[in-house]
Amino acid sequence: MQKYVYFFGEGHAEGNAKMKNILGGKGAGLAEMTNIGVPVPPGFTISTEVCTWYYDHEKSYPPELREDVESALARVEKAVGKNFGDPKRPLLVSVRSGARASMPGMMDTILNLGLNDQTVQGLAKLADERFAFDSYRRFIQMYSDVVLGIDREHFEEQLFAARDRAGVKIDAEIPAKELCALVETYKKIVRKDSGKDFPQDVHDQLWGAISAVFGSWNNQRAITYRKLNRIPDDWGTAVNVQSMVFGNMGDDSATGVAFTRNPANGQRRFFGEYLPNAQGEDVVAGIRTPLPISKAQVVGDEKPLEATMPAVYRQLEDVYKKLEAHYRDMQDIEFTIESGKLYLLQTRTGQRTGFAAVKIACDMVEDGLIKPREAVERVEANQIVQLLAPVFDAQEKQKALKGNRLLGRGLAAGPGAAAGRIAFNADHAVAMAKEGPVILARIETSPEDIAGMHSAVGILTARGGLTSHAAVVARGMGRPCIVGAGTLRIDYGRGELRSEGHEPLEEGDWISIDGTSGEVLNGQLQTRPSEVIQVLIDGTLKPEQADVFRNFDRLPRWADEIRTLGVRTNADTPTDARVARLFGAEGIGLCRTEHMFFADERILRVREMILARDEAGRRKSLAELLPYQRGDFEGIFRELAGTPVTIRLLDPPLHEFLPQTESQISEVARDMGWGFIELRSKVSQLHEMNPMLGHRGCRLGITYPEIYEMQVRAIFEAACAVKKQGTDVHPEVMIPLVGTLKELQITSEMVRRVGREVIKERGVDVPVIVGTMIEIPRAALVADKLAEVAEFVSFGTNDLTQMTFGYSRDDAGTFLPEYVEKKILPKDPFESIDQEGVGQLVRMGTERGRSAKPKLKVGVCGEHGGDPDSIRFFRTCNLDYVSCSPYRVPVARLAAAQAELELQAYEG
Ligand code: PEP
Ligand code: MG
Repeated sequence: MQKYVYFFGEGHAEGNAKMKNILGGKGAGLAEMTNIGVPVPPGFTISTEVCTWYYDHEKSYPPELREDVESALARVEKAVGKNFGDPKRPLLVSVRSGARASMPGMMDTILNLGLNDQTVQGLAKLADERFAFDSYRRFIQMYSDVVLGIDREHFEEQLFAARDRAGVKIDAEIPAKELCALVETYKKIVRKDSGKDFPQDVHDQLWGAISAVFGSWNNQRAITYRKLNRIPDDWGTAVNVQSMVFGNMGDDSATGVAFTRNPANGQRRFFGEYLPNAQGEDVVAGIRTPLPISKAQVVGDEKPLEATMPAVYRQLEDVYKKLEAHYRDMQDIEFTIESGKLYLLQTRTGQRTGFAAVKIACDMVEDGLIKPREAVERVEANQIVQLLAPVFDAQEKQKALKGNRLLGRGLAAGPGAAAGRIAFNADHAVAMAKEGPVILARIETSPEDIAGMHSAVGILTARGGLTSHAAVVARGMGRPCIVGAGTLRIDYGRGELRSEGHEPLEEGDWISIDGTSGEVLNGQLQTRPSEVIQVLIDGTLKPEQADVFRNFDRLPRWADEIRTLGVRTNADTPTDARVARLFGAEGIGLCRTEHMFFADERILRVREMILARDEAGRRKSLAELLPYQRGDFEGIFRELAGTPVTIRLLDPPLHEFLPQTESQISEVARDMGWGFIELRSKVSQLHEMNPMLGHRGCRLGITYPEIYEMQVRAIFEAACAVKKQGTDVHPEVMIPLVGTLKELQITSEMVRRVGREVIKERGVDVPVIVGTMIEIPRAALVADKLAEVAEFVSFGTNDLTQMTFGYSRDDAGTFLPEYVEKKILPKDPFESIDQEGVGQLVRMGTERGRSAKPKLKVGVCGEHGGDPDSIRFFRTCNLDYVSCSPYRVPVARLAAAQAELELQAYEG
């Protein structure tokens, strides 16, 4: 019989850490912690398979589930010596979600379940009356919100009124009598709003809660979060039912969250926050700013847990060390202290910024906790680009500080610098982000704000700690973030952000946040390159002064030892080529020569060439362009020092170069000695209805061979000159947009002829290598034929995607987002390769090409060459290399190694 329910407690669990798919992250963590002897309140996990069943069977359950839950509940009762629904010794439970991947705060949770008019009396006798009624009113409020769908505001209003009546400022001071009355008022609200009494049967309560948690898998914010984080909709959530422990039993009780290392910067220090006399959700919700747990974290006069409960703190330290050693990774833990006794409620691999991910991985290798290959596996390839993000210019920041522009300080929750216009709510942030950078400034964020947080370049909250919703989500997204900037007053009603000594700021005003230091500054501060760039590219900082750089440098080197897939770059200038080489590129996979034509002094010659009346006229302009091209290639060959340089001959439709404005047309006309009207009519003759499918790529080289001849001459003259000066060269000439063998034959013969001519003239030995791009589906289909002529092929997956789907690269933005939204496509195929269709052409083209020429070198040079998911796929197609923009090179190195490790694991 299928097992749906897994018990944990009394030092033994039916599940373990490896069962995340079935138990979810939380359930697997609770099981594992129980097994290794960490104190965990007993409970059970209902598997994710039940969630799938639930949605497949019109929101009903497998028939045997009820019995399984009952018997697991009985085991929990026995373990804690209390009974569910027992008026004397009532067992109370929490009911929480827990998917395979962490989805912080996106789904529902219910605490204190099992309280009713009878059991509350039992609890009052076991603890005290005030505590019991406070728990009951919290339960009614939470249950009504989550399960019965009653607006929280109704209860909040009554809670405020009770506080006023009692003349106290905080909830913890409301006396028992008042709470008792509040429970009655709450029950009336439920009756009025739902037409029914608040459920008194504890089993009905439990099943209501279970269904609500499964239901919350498909609430809007969970759906949005899954989409942003690419979590499949069919994974489902597990439900964890666990006996309650109370962090709100008095001053020797507390609740908190901690990271075994700093999740923002990776520092090797136990790090967390707690709230004395409070329940778990109070910390995560960011409603009260929590206190630091260790003395080292204290900045003001807060009392850390280390000082208030030293024995429990020491025990917590033991537990965190045990957990980190056991999991060999940074853990994010939730704990509760009930009357001086410590319980762990959760452990999971902690989310971290790119900065922290890289540092933690490198430190753990240094400490011998993990091997370099594990370090490579652990850092999400895309995260490494965070280390390249700009920081504020130190001098300018100093000036701003001196100029009284510091608005306040908060906790540095997400490193990096960001400047943008203030938006006070998520919808405004989404709308304003279309016009320019936005900083989302909120008192605190909640899961509803997720889209706004995503649109913003930085996030600022006035409340909350490093584990508040804003901090956790910003970390996941890699956004600069400051939380708990308590001196700022954010007033949504007036649309103002106020700080003493400053004029109030309004929505749309500029603000700058330094997520590395926690400073909030007025106005727009300029940024400067990251530490990595300063060391590696600009040479303005020494490696020994730059910790971030040292770790950044190590990880891709480990990756290089693992990967077999080559990584080249797409670079058109010596500067880009140099940057890419410094980032570790092993050559150029695509040099787009047309970009060289746009520079000021050249575009006029290009225009003359295109508009010339005849071949002689074209040749004259081309002769003037040749020295420019040769100079560019010389620069590139020098930078590349003998590594391959794939140069693509002219590709775009000529009309892209034509003069557009009247003044441009006049200028060219003057230069060519033509009349304005004559030239304008020639320009309009050259206009194409559908230029992307028009006169471009090798079609140009066939109709105007002199253009390609000039380019090939420039390439080989440059190659010979650089080689003569003592630097090795390795040009590879690439013909774009080939669809038929004949096209490739004509153009490649020309390249070989001109190349050899130049080599003979110059008396220098340079190899003449000619290949083609596969950008048209037909080329993939006839790749075996093309391979007879081509020495290499490179998939231009941008055009290949365009032509396979029939989606215009330039116009698809109008409908693709909706296609992704409606799940017609899983992702934007221009961002991440469509494995099923376009990918099939890549695989097939490679196989066909190699069937004719087994050693055929095959690469990819479309944008997909820098996307980790696509790289994983290309590795399975046995490509030789990917080529991507210079700043993606470190990502590609890491992703290529991860692809290798995955393949090794798959092939066993
Ligand atoms: C491609 O089409 O994938 C490619 C690399 O060429 P371009 O983007 O210049 O068209
Ligand atoms: Mg192309």
